[in-house]
Amino acid sequence: MDKELPEQTVLELRKVSCAYQAGHPAISDISFSAREGEILCLLGPSGCGKTTVLRVIAGFEPVSAGEVWLSGRLVSAVRLTVPAEQRRVGMVFQEYALFPHLCVADNIAFGLRRLMRDRRRAQVQAMLEMTGLIGLERRYPHELSGGQQQRAALARALAQKPVILLLDEPFSNLDPDMTGKMRQDLHDLLRQTRTTTILVTHDHDEAFAMADRIAVLNQGRLEQVDTPEAIYHTPATPFVADFVGQADFIPGVVQNGVVRTEIGEFPNQVGYENGVKVVVMIRPDDVHIMPVKDSPVRILSRQFRGSENLYAIGLPSGQTIHSSEASTHVYPVGTPVELRVAATHTVLFLAR
Ligand code: ADP
Ligand code: MG
Repeated sequence: MDKELPEQTVLELRKVSCAYQAGHPAISDISFSAREGEILCLLGPSGCGKTTVLRVIAGFEPVSAGEVWLSGRLVSAVRLTVPAEQRRVGMVFQEYALFPHLCVADNIAFGLRRLMRDRRRAQVQAMLEMTGLIGLERRYPHELSGGQQQRAALARALAQKPVILLLDEPFSNLDPDMTGKMRQDLHDLLRQTRTTTILVTHDHDEAFAMADRIAVLNQGRLEQVDTPEAIYHTPATPFVADFVGQADFIPGVVQNGVVRTEIGEFPNQVGYENGVKVVVMIRPDDVHIMPVKDSPVRILSRQFRGSENLYAIGLPSGQTIHSSEASTHVYPVGTPVELRVAATHTVLFLAR
């Protein structure tokens, strides 16, 4: 065992890069770690390198720089790639990749050939029970719904008692109306089995619902690794702020120790010097509107979202800011309003 790693760290990436074509890294300088039992979500837009990170961890792609450590063992470095079958990593691919010519039970048993027959049978049975697939064990993949296929793929991966489970967009092939329940079931299953998991998704709601911590990837680089709450309320970059929810960026300038903007003053938390141009990131949940008789600030549009109304508000400068109001607060387009902004959640970035 490597003495440098704290015991509970299962996975650690140290400044990892991976390039499919020399000189064009798909991921660069990626560092993060996962603790035992943790669910870590890799979040980012399509093409940002999420699957590549998983393939590196699984041992399917070599690294062009950096190191991957699994359970205290160096498994990837330049000129070192411990083969996938020696890593005890479970992977569920986006399209599940079940063996079409094997029934559910045989798919699950596939990686258990080394076990004695009784042990193997018991292990398959335990996995069928855990994933709610009892009664479907003799079905073939094409005879299963998307959700059942996903559970069969999970059962196959978990049967081998992996040290870490890698899930690539596990809900992308499911009907949207199923995903809420499936997320909850998967979360319960991972917690119950204390499975250390890296879950890849492009959907911030999914990451918020599932993750202990979220790592946000953009164009092959990590922008922030943090709790869901910190990612949402204190994003490290404008990209993160924008990617994980509606955000408006209001220009301002630092004067006498505060940030002056057209919608009022904000604290200069970062301590920028006078004269520095900044943008204040504000979420709709922190902006409230009060109808008034007369104001140059007006409602541009209202989007009904069930539990809330999302208003777009036009400012005198032409800039738009959004406000989330209770679904019962209905005001017509064109209504002059006054803004109340809760300054506690605002985040400052340097203007570019
Ligand atoms: P994501 O999973 O976030 O959508 P990927 O990791 O699949 O992103 O891809 C990251 C980048 O690497 C993309 O630009 C993609 O086109 C490229 N890429 C992925 N797989 C290959 C491959 N086998 N050969 C060449 N380029 C690839
Ligand atoms: Mg992908």
